[in-house]
Amino acid sequence: MALDRFGRNIHYLRISLTDHCNLRCIYCMPEDQTFRPNKDLLQDDEILTLAHLFASLGFDKIRLTGGEPTVRANVVEIVRGIAAVPGIKSISMTTNGVLLARLAQPLKEAGLQRVNISIDTLDPVKFKRLTRWGKLDDVWQGILAAEQAGLTPIKLNAVVVKGYNEEDVIDLAALTLERNWQMRYIEMMPFAGVTDVQTQQIITAAQIQQKIESEFGPLELTGQYDGEARIFRIHGAKGELGFISSVTVPFCSACTRARLTADGVLRMCLLREKEIDLLTPMRSGATMDDLRALILDGVWNKPWGHGLDQGLIPLNRVMNQIGG
Ligand code: SAM
Ligand code: SF4
Repeated sequence: MALDRFGRNIHYLRISLTDHCNLRCIYCMPEDQTFRPNKDLLQDDEILTLAHLFASLGFDKIRLTGGEPTVRANVVEIVRGIAAVPGIKSISMTTNGVLLARLAQPLKEAGLQRVNISIDTLDPVKFKRLTRWGKLDDVWQGILAAEQAGLTPIKLNAVVVKGYNEEDVIDLAALTLERNWQMRYIEMMPFAGVTDVQTQQIITAAQIQQKIESEFGPLELTGQYDGEARIFRIHGAKGELGFISSVTVPFCSACTRARLTADGVLRMCLLREKEIDLLTPMRSGATMDDLRALILDGVWNKPWGHGLDQGLIPLNRVMNQIGG
């Protein structure tokens, strides 16, 4: 078991498979974002070595993310490899869904259990404006393919941005009336690259909830949390709504996560700059015991929480370079 100095059992690892992406969401990165060369990213065998190492330390839950994880070459084989690591009980993925129509079934067969798919609006014109390059129908087909393949329960993520999609939270919520999906609304967080949009156009979880309630009436609190999301239901709906208020009501005390970036550094808090490089020692002959000691030290020193309320914005990486 990997414990931090506050007694939290850190057992959930988010692995970013690449910083590359086939979209350019306005809240994530600038349009002219450059990406790391492949040789600077963890190679397939290095990902698997680290997955084994983290599992040996008690990590049992893995989420693959990015950038866009589905653009990584060999993504199906990487999933197959991680799913076979002893001790890993849960393996899921966060994706923009663009390539899922083709990949959902092979990913499921390789051992992927669930997906979270990002969809910020159901309006094709607004979708294009938000993602710069995206076609809404590709994502919609991806969601249907994921459901068909059994990558369930289907969870959808929407980042809400003032002036872009704050009215669309209602149509997205309406999806849950007839479908057993979980629609999750995420407060925009500030990082480097597009910090202005992220700080000036934020809509809070409370504002999102209010907008949805103005259409559907008071939401029913289920009393459950799903990870960081507080779960509600529209009266009589088949699916659920979740609100992720990382900025206004942080969930740091319950955080059990660590992040492994695509270039092989361990980041113990999404919103803190401190990082532990694992790739360089790995490529310079560090033993498994050396790497284990680095990870355990990083875990032990996991920050208690983020510093956004003191004006501390992490500026050493753009969101896609960390892994959401
Ligand atoms: N490309 C995949 C996707 O979009 O789902 C996975 C990586 S993306 C960085 C992971 C999640 O972070 C997505 O749900 C995305 O909407 C969200 N995200 C990106 N930038 C964000 C920001 N500034 N604040 C909050 N969430 C953000
Ligand atoms: Fe790509 Fe995901 Fe960032 Fe959008 S949020 S640009 S899909 S990494």
